[in-house]
Parts: sequence; C-alpha cells; structure tokens
Amino acid sequence: MSRIVVIGAGMAGHATALGLKHRLGADHEVIVVSPGAQWINPDSLPHIATGLQSPEHETVALGSLYRHKGIIYHQGLARTVYPRGYRDDPRPQVEITFTGSPLARETARVPYDFLVVATGHDIDRVAGIPSEGTTIATCVIDRLDSAVAGESELRRLISELQDSPPGDKPRVIAVGRSARGMGGYYGALEYALAVDGVLRSEGLRSRVQLHFFDAGRPWLYLTSANPEMEEATREAVERLMERFGILLHRGKRLTSINGTRLRYVSAQGDDAPEEIACDLLAIEASRVLTPLAVKSPAGEDLSAELYDGWGRFRVDATREDRAGGESISGLPQTFRNPTFPKIFGIGSAIALDAKAVGETDSRQEVPEPSQTRDMAHLMSREVTAQIVSELTEEPRSDTPENLAEMENVLSLEWDYSLFSLRGFYAEIGLTKSKEPKQTLIVHQGLFAYWSVRIERFLERYRAKGHPLWWLLPS
Ligand SMILES: Cc1cc2nc3c(=O)[nH]c(=O)nc-3n(C[C@H](O)[C@H](O)[C@H](O)COP(=O)(O)OP(=O)(O)OC[C@H]3O[C@@H](n4cnc5c(N)ncnc54)[C@H](O)[C@@H]3O)c2cc1C
Repeated sequence: MSRIVVIGAGMAGHATALGLKHRLGADHEVIVVSPGAQWINPDSLPHIATGLQSPEHETVALGSLYRHKGIIYHQGLARTVYPRGYRDDPRPQVEITFTGSPLARETARVPYDFLVVATGHDIDRVAGIPSEGTTIATCVIDRLDSAVAGESELRRLISELQDSPPGDKPRVIAVGRSARGMGGYYGALEYALAVDGVLRSEGLRSRVQLHFFDAGRPWLYLTSANPEMEEATREAVERLMERFGILLHRGKRLTSINGTRLRYVSAQGDDAPEEIACDLLAIEASRVLTPLAVKSPAGEDLSAELYDGWGRFRVDATREDRAGGESISGLPQTFRNPTFPKIFGIGSAIALDAKAVGETDSRQEVPEPSQTRDMAHLMSREVTAQIVSELTEEPRSDTPENLAEMENVLSLEWDYSLFSLRGFYAEIGLTKSKEPKQTLIVHQGLFAYWSVRIERFLERYRAKGHPLWWLLPS
C-alpha cells in the first residue's frame, strides 16, 4: 500500500484528494493536511461578506466528508518537507503541526510515497493592512472568518442608519487593496457591487458613500504587455463603477487604518499620504507566497530544490532561450518537481514559468501568484492520472491534458472573463471597426446571474463528491 499526502484542501488540493481516493479505492492511502475545517469556493466570499449568501450553504465540512470517503484528514499546517528522510529514517516525510483537534499544537511527521503541494497563497499573511492604535473592524474579503465578521459589521452599519434621521451625515464604506497582488481585483469589485445592491434594497444607498481604491492596476491581468488593452479594460471598469455610483480613487492604494482614519497613497508611492474617515473598511488581500521549509535529514536547507527565488513551487515549466536575449516560456505539463519527481505542485503556489530571480520582466520584478481556480481541476486531474498510472502500473487510457492546449481550445486566458452575481458579464472582445481591436465588453442581465448560480452549484456538487461528480468536465 502506498501513501499519498496532499497538502492544502483548497481548490486544487481538495479535488486531487477526492480524485485519488475515487480512483485508488482502499488499495492506497490518501492523507490530506490542511488547517481549515471547511472547503469554500473563494468566489462566494464577497457575497458571504455582504450577507447575500450564507456560509453554511457555500461551505463543505471536510472532516465528515473525508471520513465518509475514506480519506485520512489531519487538520493542521505542514511546516517542513524532508524529501530525503529525517535523521536516520530514510522515508521522505513532511512535518505538520495540528491546528484543530485535541492534538492542536502537537507536531507529527507523516511519511509519504507521493506528495502533492497545493498550498495556494499564504493564509496567515492574508491579513489586510497595518493598523495603528484602535482600529475599526476590517473585513478581509478573502478569508471566510473575516468575511463572516464583515457581514455583521455591515449589518450593524445598516441598523445604525435605519435608527438615525435621514439627514444624518452619510456613512463611508471603503473597499480596496493595500498593494498589487494577484491579478485583478475581482473580490473587491464584486464586494463593492454587492454592498451597493444590499444598500439599495434597504433604501439606504443615498446615505452611504462607497469608495474604491484600485491599487493602481486594471482589473484584468494580461499575460502579455498590452497597454492599449489595459487602458480599455480600465475604462470599461471605471464606467461600471460610475454606473453604480462608486467613487473611484484611481491609482491609489491603502496604507493604514487608525481608528476611523484611513490613509492612502499613490500606488507609485510618490506623493504624500491622504486620509478619509470611514465607517467600514473591506479589503481584498494582496497575495503572497510563503514556501514550506525543506530540509535534508541532517537539517540543512534544501529549499532551492523545491522553490524558486520568489517562493514559487518549482514544477516543469520550460524555457527556451533564443538569440537576441528573448526567452520563450512553456507551461508545466506534468507538475512534477524536477529534483524530486514524486513531489507534485499544483494551484496558485506553483511557478507557471521558468523565470529566475534577476531576470527583468517588462512589467514587474516580482511575479504574482497565479490565479488558478479555473485550472484547478485540470491540474488535479492530470496529477491524479499520473499517480494512479504509476501505482497501478497501468498505462493511461486518457490523453494527458495540457494547459497550453486547453487555453487554445477555449481561447481562454485566465481572467479573460468575469461573471458577476450582481448581474454583469465582462469579456474580452473585438471592436467593430475596420481594424478591430481587443476591448473589454460588459454585458448586463440575467445571463450572468444564472451562469454564476450554475457554476457555483457545480463547484459545490463536485466538492461534496456527490455521485457522478467525477464526470464533470475539468
Ligand atoms: C473573491 C475571490 C475571487 C477570485 N476569483 C478568481 C477567478 O475568477 N479566477 C481565478 O482563477 N482565481 C480567482 N481567485 C483566486 C483563487 O482563489 C485561487 O486562484 C485558487 O483558490 C487557487 O487554488 P489553490 O488550491 O492553489 O489555493 P487555495 O484555494 O488558496 O487553497 C490552498 C489551501 O492550502 C491550505 N494551506 C496553505 N498553507 C498550508 C500549509 N502550510 N499546510 C497545509 N495547508 C496549507 C490553505 O488552508 C488552503 O486550504 C479568487 C479569489 C478570491 C478570494
């Protein structure tokens, strides 16, 4: 019997654990290590934070589900990988600290035959902006606990308004980011639109100012530099905000909060800080990666074998250096670590290209963690198929799925479309001129609303491992 340890039960890890158990049955052991007791589709968070969706409906309890499926679940944080064994025990293993059981804070080492690293971006450093002195409650849209707390703050503010005379001073809600992060600001934008909807339905919209801080970047992250396109998307999103009466602080990022005083500066950092007083602040976190420690049996640092200089997990992204200094990147295909082929990496934690620190990028020095929700199932299916084929020694019957091919087929680049439960649908399209140019087209209506409802239903159906979940396409 072999043992596969999956670190992280988010979009990518959870799907992999379910897939492996489904394919391998009782012949092999699947262990999941993850600190949270629940699975959630991150897209629901802005709606939970505004009370439009209930956390009970949107989450899946991992403990009971894994018990039912025969997956072993260690609620805890992985700390250190020992890919060559620990001291005189030569078995590769991972050291974990339990977080949520009578074992909380205890440490254990779990040997593995295969390891799947699906840790996403850092959960603890997704903590919002620094606070000084007393601080108003902050809602970090990306975290379930904080989204739930933010919802009661919003309710409190609404009750306060209902109990105060109509001529009372307007309340201020600020939404934004403190720094650039993963591409786009979907969570923040969706939150602002959702707050707008909630206030309108309560008849209070005119009594609240909604401020939006865009941290100096357009909504879309384009995989190739295209200033015209960036400008077009920026304009389209700005028009959208104008339509909803959201006050945009273009090119501004949040720096700190002190009591009700919110401070912000230009994203370029070249001006003096400005301040506004606000009653509620909701932020979409800037996402950072924190690699796991990687050690030799004697405790020497082996991190460079598993992680690149930016803390991205190394998989098999390729590069081809061409004459003239140009280098062409190829997307990963097997998701195996080049040094330790029994260790796979999937999801936002991985390097989707083979760039190295020191190489300049035309747009940024530090690559952002990738948004991989839309690719999570594809990655997990691919890794599952490889592990199953190796363990059963049966050749694969399916053709390996490949991110690059998939992109071409769907003509989909990540973030190229956005469906909002608030009833709009944005996509990249072409202008109807003689020389068509790419632009962002925003449609409004029921199509977007129902697409989101159906997509959410399917994600939950899959995450609950209901009968036939595995037949759903990647
Ligand atoms: C509001 C919002 C909207 C978004 N919209 C999109 C979108 O439209 N498209 C898109 O592609 N992406 C989107 N994203 C980003 C999306 O959340 C990520 O791309 C996706 O979740 C990545 O999946 P993952 O499995 O790699 O990481 P996650 O889903 O973040 O899962 C990581 C898991 O690892 C666990 N973990 C972390 N560290 C450890 C450790 N040391 N030990 C054990 N477990 C650990 C975490 O607790 C978590 O369970 C959005 C995010 C938010 C918040």
